[in-house]
Amino acid sequence: MKQSQLFTKTQKYVPKDELSLNAQLLIRAGFIDKEMAGVYSFLPLGLKTLNKIIAIIRQEMNALGGQEVFLTALQNPELWKKTNRWNDKEVDVWFKTKIKTGGEIGLSVTHEEPLTNLVKKHIHSYKDLPQYIYQFQNKFRNEKRAKSGIMRSREFIMKDLYSFSRTQKEHEKFYEKIKESYIKIFNHLGIGKQTYLTFASGGSFSHYSHEFQTICKAGEDTIYIDKKKNIAINKEVYTDKVLTDLAINKNNLEKVKAAEVGNIFSLGTKFSDAFNLIYQDKEGRDQKVIMGSYGIGPARAMGIIVELFSDEKGIIWPESVAPFKVHLISLEKNEEAEKIYQKLLQNNLEVLYDDRNIQAGNKFADADLIGIPYRLVISKKSLARGGVEIKKRTEKESRIVSLEKIIAELK
Ligand code: ATP
Ligand code: MG
Repeated sequence: MKQSQLFTKTQKYVPKDELSLNAQLLIRAGFIDKEMAGVYSFLPLGLKTLNKIIAIIRQEMNALGGQEVFLTALQNPELWKKTNRWNDKEVDVWFKTKIKTGGEIGLSVTHEEPLTNLVKKHIHSYKDLPQYIYQFQNKFRNEKRAKSGIMRSREFIMKDLYSFSRTQKEHEKFYEKIKESYIKIFNHLGIGKQTYLTFASGGSFSHYSHEFQTICKAGEDTIYIDKKKNIAINKEVYTDKVLTDLAINKNNLEKVKAAEVGNIFSLGTKFSDAFNLIYQDKEGRDQKVIMGSYGIGPARAMGIIVELFSDEKGIIWPESVAPFKVHLISLEKNEEAEKIYQKLLQNNLEVLYDDRNIQAGNKFADADLIGIPYRLVISKKSLARGGVEIKKRTEKESRIVSLEKIIAELK
């Protein structure tokens, strides 16, 4: 894409009320726009990155045998009354509204109730199970605090998968498998090293639920990490019993701030009971379906990545989620730049080509702010030195690579 045609411009200043680093950088670099407190639009660069994160998650969900759906954002109160979750005391972040013909309606907060109700229409026999159903869909939550940029917004995209298993054993097997998938996802996103499998409260038929917590100053949670065991405990469940259960030595724990990027829950039969979701086993007996739910916040993950990887000049994207792989910058009008641009495109390299007629310093500042992994500069000077100047966003030094070798170098 040619930068002269890019819809967004970078900006020097951000709204004064924007306190979080991720939103400040993403707004300045033109990835997102703040509509109002806790509500953000994704612009071309931002959507490219968000979609890369989504693609990484989707790949793993499909590998698990997940089937993707897209449920409705408008929710039927009748279904939520069955679990008593329409009650504002149970779910205190509802956005509710009235419909013209009378009656209330909810904006999606999560999807256990509607999906359980839907699954009931298609699941009858042990042959229909197990099922793993997931979606990427917007959730609306009237969050009290909306000071963490896209890490906590009032409208946000969530990957939520729900598992429907025949037995507790079958459920547990899947639970372990998705744990591994989550670890793969966070490694692929570039935050694996900072992300800990964390024991937290909740979860029916199991002592704990599991969160994936990324160590991050901007995080709202406090966790205790055990680096040797590579696990953590959420402060809210930290008791002597947990230490014993996990065979953790208190002295090995380190207290840190963290952000929950994903979580996995055993739900037992809580929802199957409320909806009478049953199947017939091989012997023709009625059995309850065992459920689990598994969330990841792709936009929160994006915010966390920015919080972790930036410097005073701007964002430093991991290659796996960068909006482009290469930022090609031409100084002065030169034909070689156009040729290289075409060559990169022909080789399926994603490239943002700064062809604008502005000062070199501004181009470099924009490149650092936007944070694309490889910067290529082509100028009379670089050509005189034998080719293109290549520099990684993570490094200070650049070097010259000949025009013939540049593709091989980037592939
Ligand atoms: P939190 O404790 O941070 O509010 P939660 O327990 O409410 O999270 P879930 O409802 O299980 O989270 O949602 C699954 C995932 O969705 C979370 O792990 C997180 O990554 C993401 N998420 C939750 N709330 C938000 C939000 N307000 N903005 C952005 N992402 C969110
Ligand atoms: Mg919440």
